[in-house]
Amino acid sequence: MTGIAVLGSTNMDLVAYVERAPGRGETVTGREFRTVPGGKGANQAVAAARAGGQVTMIGAVGDDEYGVRLRSNLEHAGIDTDLLHTVEGPSGTAHIVVDDTGANSIVVVPGANGTVTALGPGEMAAIAGADLLLLQLELPLSAVIEGARVAHAQGVRTILTPSPVQPLPSELLDCVDLLIPNEHEAAEISGFTDPHASAQYLLSQVPAVVITLGSKGCLYAARGGEPVVLPAPEVTAVDTTGAGDTFVGTLAVALGERRPVPRALAWASSAAALCVQRPGASTSMPYRTEIDAA
Ligand code: ATP
Repeated sequence: MTGIAVLGSTNMDLVAYVERAPGRGETVTGREFRTVPGGKGANQAVAAARAGGQVTMIGAVGDDEYGVRLRSNLEHAGIDTDLLHTVEGPSGTAHIVVDDTGANSIVVVPGANGTVTALGPGEMAAIAGADLLLLQLELPLSAVIEGARVAHAQGVRTILTPSPVQPLPSELLDCVDLLIPNEHEAAEISGFTDPHASAQYLLSQVPAVVITLGSKGCLYAARGGEPVVLPAPEVTAVDTTGAGDTFVGTLAVALGERRPVPRALAWASSAAALCVQRPGASTSMPYRTEIDAA
């Protein structure tokens, strides 16, 4: 089994569904409210575990009720949570308002995630012993950089999802093997709106990049090779939340199993296409047997 360490965020998503989002100083009545386990780190961990990876989650939750639920959600997916620390104070939360057009606005309060500023010996050993490390940017950058450095020093392949977008220091990029932005993030980082131009720019920073293009699929480019566009399967999307995290978690498993890159990308695309056909984020992520069948 592919050993995957995820150093990332665990949030409770607090989702209010409204006809129209409130303006400044305004109050509106919502239609429905749901609490849904989320956070990019935890979502990628669940996707990788469902796809057949042996996953260790590194991060923190608060000592509140959300923390208990977030941990048990990960354990239920078969993820090792020994290095998901419980710290004093609230868990990370994402306050999401979704209107009737499907558009959303989100406030993320890092809570416990913000306490993960450095790694201890246990975290370093888990990263060093993994086949791949998955990183995003919802934890303090100091911890993300440290994780990438440990992985790089041990020859552990590192995949970074640069979300939420922020300036990426070269000490981080120097330790990244594969960067996976969506097309908006790629444009913001590179300054080029065309994905091919973005990819060329990003290859000056990292050895390989996958730019995800939503329903258009993805673009893969690696130094010294021709870029490849892989179209997404044509499906009817009902909720694309978590598609990107499904893609990354599943791709990590396939790469860890040493599948050739085009086949690994096709497998991840099948998984993401299954995810968008169902409502929810981590709940809509497919299991290995479903991905194989698709
Ligand atoms: P999200 O934030 O919604 O999780 P993202 O913005 O990080 O997603 P996208 O580029 O929108 O990332 O989607 C990731 C991958 O999911 C795509 O590369 C594609 O494989 C798949 N995907 C997304 N939308 C669709 C769709 N409508 N039909 C088929 N596949 C899709």
